[in-house]
Amino acid sequence: MAKAVVLYSGGLDSSLALDIVKEWGATVFPLHIAHKLLSGQRLPMVPDLKIVDVTEEFAQIVQEPEYGYGKNLNPCIDCRIVMLKKAKEYMEEVKADFVVTGEVLDQRQMSQRLDTLMLIEKKAGLEGMVVRPLCGALLPPTIPEKKGLVSHKDLLKIKGRSRRLSLEIAKNRNITEFLSPSGGCLLTDPGFCRRLADVLRFQETLGAVDIELLKIGRHFRIAPNAKLIVGRNKDENKRIEEMADNSDIFFYVPDTGSPNAILLGDKKYTKVAAAITARYSDKKKEPKVEVYFKHRGKEEKIKVKPIDDEELSKWRI
Ligand code: SF4
Repeated sequence: MAKAVVLYSGGLDSSLALDIVKEWGATVFPLHIAHKLLSGQRLPMVPDLKIVDVTEEFAQIVQEPEYGYGKNLNPCIDCRIVMLKKAKEYMEEVKADFVVTGEVLDQRQMSQRLDTLMLIEKKAGLEGMVVRPLCGALLPPTIPEKKGLVSHKDLLKIKGRSRRLSLEIAKNRNITEFLSPSGGCLLTDPGFCRRLADVLRFQETLGAVDIELLKIGRHFRIAPNAKLIVGRNKDENKRIEEMADNSDIFFYVPDTGSPNAILLGDKKYTKVAAAITARYSDKKKEPKVEVYFKHRGKEEKIKVKPIDDEELSKWRI
């Protein structure tokens, strides 16, 4: 019996691919590649699902993708290469015969054209070893097909951006649980990418904490070496407080519906940062507001005029 590592994102196509390969009678090893730039929808329950986190590798490729970005800051070709490399490692670990993906030919302009599908598997060291049940009938035969582990006639011919056919097949197979296509990768979200572009421009590195901070708050670039993040709601205020470390300056206005804010970088911008924090507190209409700030375990306060909107707009990212 053939053994297959199935790349499983939780979406429609990979759910379908997983179901089809099971029907062939193969032993499946589902593998989910996670990183902190995914929106965090809960995956459907899949037995024996292995999850591998590639946030660190992903942060590297986002900074300098060999094959460039898509429409936003999505380095899809480099990302797929990382995913397939992880699938190859798992394939070797469990001694599987091949890797399966739910890719559909020409569904995505950047990473699912015939030439890029072939390039990605080659760069991942999986040339000829990736079986694509949804579109394999339109592709050159793979090594598992040549060896008789997979029958070419069992492969489908799905092509293009429409999900209609995949949805129909999923319905016929009673597959009802899969993630929505919109909920995926933050690198396709223009607002998120604007904030990320700012970090890539002004910071030398991008780490897991930077990625977490990009997901929350309003962001203000006060200077090349100073950025302020202001919470927008209770959850974000809590996250900001938890994530502020000793080298950051943490701001709040006591006894008000104050946002929490953190200044990352040069401390000489403390007064401006306090004025922005005051602007988002319930005391924003008062001439002067007392803003508290903590740095390296020491708490101080400063009286500032809440910043006006015109000035604020210069710094908004
Ligand atoms: S959309 Fe995001 S997760 Fe998907 S391939 Fe592109 S970069 Fe990777």
